[in-house]
Amino acid sequence: MACTSTAPLVMRIMASSIQIAGRAGRIIRDVMSKGDLGIVEKAKDDLQTEADRSAQRCIVASLERLFPNVTIIGEEGKTDLKVPEDWLVSDLNTDFLERNTCPDALKQVKESDLVIWVDPLDGTSEYTQGFLERVTVLIGISVNDRAVGGVIHQPYFESSTGSLGRTIWGVKGIGTGGFTPTRPPTNRFIVTTTRSHSDAIVQSALDAVSPDEVLRVGGAGYKVLQLLEGNAHAYIFASRGCKKWDTCAPEAVLEAQGGKLTDMIGRHYYYGKEVSFPNVCGVLGTASGISHEDILAKMPENVKEAMNKTH
Ligand code: AMP
Ligand code: MG
Ligand code: MG
Repeated sequence: MACTSTAPLVMRIMASSIQIAGRAGRIIRDVMSKGDLGIVEKAKDDLQTEADRSAQRCIVASLERLFPNVTIIGEEGKTDLKVPEDWLVSDLNTDFLERNTCPDALKQVKESDLVIWVDPLDGTSEYTQGFLERVTVLIGISVNDRAVGGVIHQPYFESSTGSLGRTIWGVKGIGTGGFTPTRPPTNRFIVTTTRSHSDAIVQSALDAVSPDEVLRVGGAGYKVLQLLEGNAHAYIFASRGCKKWDTCAPEAVLEAQGGKLTDMIGRHYYYGKEVSFPNVCGVLGTASGISHEDILAKMPENVKEAMNKTH
């Protein structure tokens, strides 16, 4: 139990990120329902819409006002932080604070130890093509270079009561919330991977594990959700396209539930403020109870070579 103002810093950032992600999700839905997505091509196969821009402004402006000395890195770079008053979220999720105790290892964390990684809209291609369930808002918290906490918000998740949006969170040393963790089936092996950023090496890595089924779905957040909810055993992406804001929150949530997320060589990424953004050695995620090492051991030379070359 913790009072909102005296809770340790990491707990307060988590509690506000849960609220802020929900507000950003509303902005994403509003942009879509107005119909003008304002698409800009940042690079080949890399789009940005008005929803990416506005959601980032909402998240970064809200976090900066509450935690002015914490480094915040958002996918959309420097954005105008003069935002409409009703985009500024200042409340904390009291349920999170009341039900959870800060792990000892995180109690003394200072603002200078932290970096918050923001992907305001993960799965932009999915958003523009109407695969709305796969869109997520990702807010990841790293402490001393490691991903320790995160929020994955799904603006278009439809609950049994018909309401839209859900927020999943995880903190290493506490666990996860906002969904029902489920183990994947034991009689078949299901892999999830990119829908729109595949190449020969990505395919070699998939072939090497002889999956019974491959779920090709966009979004790093959505793919990790497939591991958390028992729809896939592994997330395999042997390519350099993902960035730190794609993996910080998903890694923290997955590992808080007993899974693992590393590069394709088996190393955790670093999330300190000086790191370069691209995850050059790919992404390997495994659900809780699935052997990460077994998958790494199956990777053929051409995949290992390609991943090492980009390092
Ligand atoms: P995907 O699995 O293809 O949906 O990608 C997960 C995340 O990584 C998304 O935010 C993508 O934008 C990003 N990503 C992956 N591959 C690339 C690429 N080749 N170029 C740009 N972004 C990429
Ligand atoms: Mg992304
Ligand atoms: Mg994005």
